[in-house]
Amino acid sequence: MADGLRLAGVGVVTVPALRAERLYRFYRSGEEETMALRGVSLAIDAGELVVVAGPSGSGKSTLLACLSGLDEPDGGFVHVGADRISHRAERDRAALRAGRIGVLLQTGNLLPHLSVAQNIELAQRLSGRGTRPSPTRLLDSLGMADRAAARPGSLSGGESIRAGLAVALANAPTVLLADEPTGELDDDTESLVLALLRRRADEGCAVLVVSHSAAVAHRADRVLRLHDGLIEAGEAA
Ligand code: ADP
Ligand code: MG
Repeated sequence: MADGLRLAGVGVVTVPALRAERLYRFYRSGEEETMALRGVSLAIDAGELVVVAGPSGSGKSTLLACLSGLDEPDGGFVHVGADRISHRAERDRAALRAGRIGVLLQTGNLLPHLSVAQNIELAQRLSGRGTRPSPTRLLDSLGMADRAAARPGSLSGGESIRAGLAVALANAPTVLLADEPTGELDDDTESLVLALLRRRADEGCAVLVVSHSAAVAHRADRVLRLHDGLIEAGEAA
């Protein structure tokens, strides 16, 4: 499951599913400069569920955007398996993301004018990859088989997250990144979504979840605490 990197004279070295090295990200608006990330390093292996916790404004969403290639760090590198996704042309990042990384954002995971199943099919068509689950089976595995034809606007909070998760998993990614996926959910629905994320990790995906929830941290293999753009000492990968 782990990516192999062939090095002359060394043989095959396994690398983490996702690795970030000293990520920096600054935002400038007028005279003001915000250091959203100040040298964040982490590594996540296939099969791990890692939670990133931290107060509002600590850089969690910025980190997730840099890890997914949706944003470019100002310094540092991100590797997905043996491939670098940072510091590349937008279309190369998009191609890598489409095939290898599932992203579940806080909003905007679904196109409103398409059904749930059509959203999944579109994600699959855009990636152009060969091996992917059928939308029906994917939705079934998330307990959403009966909502395949529904429009996103008619879904409950828990259903929206699971539909977004189905889109994120449409291309059988090796890495799944989720930004506060249970933030708006009641306890029972949170448990259900959490069990789905845990199962994905157990099946060999590297899962990183941004979350404040104690229940999510409890199911994680590791919790990384982000504070002011830095991972607190002793918890780095
Ligand atoms: P979190 O997700 O932990 O709440 P963010 O990553 O959203 O934190 O933000 C980290 C810091 O960067 C905050 O101070 C935020 O105000 C700032 N920030 C985030 N995005 C932007 C942006 N597009 N422009 C300017 N500042 C931003
Ligand atoms: Mg955030």
